[in-house]
Amino acid sequence: MQELTPYLNPAWGDGPDSLFSRVARAAVMATHRECDNRVCRMVSFVYGSGRPALWSHANLNEDTHDWLRGEFGKVPMSFFAQMAACVKAGDSSRCPRGQG
Ligand SMILES: [Zn+2]
Repeated sequence: MQELTPYLNPAWGDGPDSLFSRVARAAVMATHRECDNRVCRMVSFVYGSGRPALWSHANLNEDTHDWLRGEFGKVPMSFFAQMAACVKAGDSSRCPRGQG
């Protein structure tokens, strides 16, 4: 995917800024139907497993669920390479330093 974009951004749920982001958002909206908050659904895609990935809807009230729309930004593709290196190392204290 890094051939197509230098970053992913959950905020694309409310405001895609390129052709790639519009296509990515459409794909996520078609496959992540866990709620009506498009940023929340993009978070599930960007940050991995779970629908949603970072919280349980049962633990969020409506105000908090709506508030999170403004709390996410660009995630450089180097983040995913770094996380993969950490998983491969198997121990965060042995996690190799990233390039970004
Ligand atoms: Zn949600």
